[in-house]
Amino acid sequence: MARRRQLYEGKAKILFEGPEPGTLVQYFKDDATANNAQKRGVITGKGVLNNRISEYLMLRLAEIGVPTHFVRRLNMREQLIREVEIIPIEVVVRNVAAGSLSKRLGIEEGTRLPRTIIEYYYKNDQLGDPMVSEEHITAFGWANTQDMDDIISLSLRINDFLTGLFLGVGITLVDFKVEFGRLWDNEDMRIVLADEISPDNCRLWDAKTNEKMDKDRFRRDLGRVEEAYQEVAKRLGILPEAGMRDLKGPETMQ
Ligand code: UDP
Repeated sequence: MARRRQLYEGKAKILFEGPEPGTLVQYFKDDATANNAQKRGVITGKGVLNNRISEYLMLRLAEIGVPTHFVRRLNMREQLIREVEIIPIEVVVRNVAAGSLSKRLGIEEGTRLPRTIIEYYYKNDQLGDPMVSEEHITAFGWANTQDMDDIISLSLRINDFLTGLFLGVGITLVDFKVEFGRLWDNEDMRIVLADEISPDNCRLWDAKTNEKMDKDRFRRDLGRVEEAYQEVAKRLGILPEAGMRDLKGPETMQ
């Protein structure tokens, strides 16, 4: 069979042309980067777990009416998605102080924020994804005010829903990053959730011990990175059927 055309390779995923027009195949790699790709590594089995975790979370979100790009999971490392026009903004939603917010504003990690805070970063690796305001976003035409209304209300709904979902399995959703895209249907356009939602782009702390169960274990060399991702999947009840054997070994791609 002819190898599919690769359209894009990012730090943690590859996008291939999909089987039908308007679809793409999203392939999850084990590669991990941090600090704008200054730190690189491999987290064995991460791609398999993130594929599952993101599938699960996007399906749950779709059930409450959040539109997403997700169509279906194809295999261990791939999912079929709708092709969208990615809005070049990383939307970060925060419930508890951590990471760059703690550093920038001197607020101790773990401090519960007085209310949920949304931040925007311009997606540009060369510039190191600088923080921007809604003013920059609308002035430079990355999104208009109607798009921003949709992005904000979707982000808050995603946050409320995921906060409850994770709390139900003993995990605090500290913060997360999401991306949105425009899905065109002839003249109609809808903003939909795109990219992925996984421990690569969420901060997830054990609700009792505050132990980190996300990519900070890799960023900060805390060890037991693979185990943390597995534990998140296990608590969500979605570890691959055959257990950890599924995560190792060669991957064949059609
Ligand atoms: N995040 C992400 N991609 C990025 C930057 C941040 O997915 O390029 C996520 C990160 O995992 C965390 C949240 O966004 O859940 C907030 O990250 P922060 O701004 O604190 O940056 P960091 O400390 O990761 O540099």
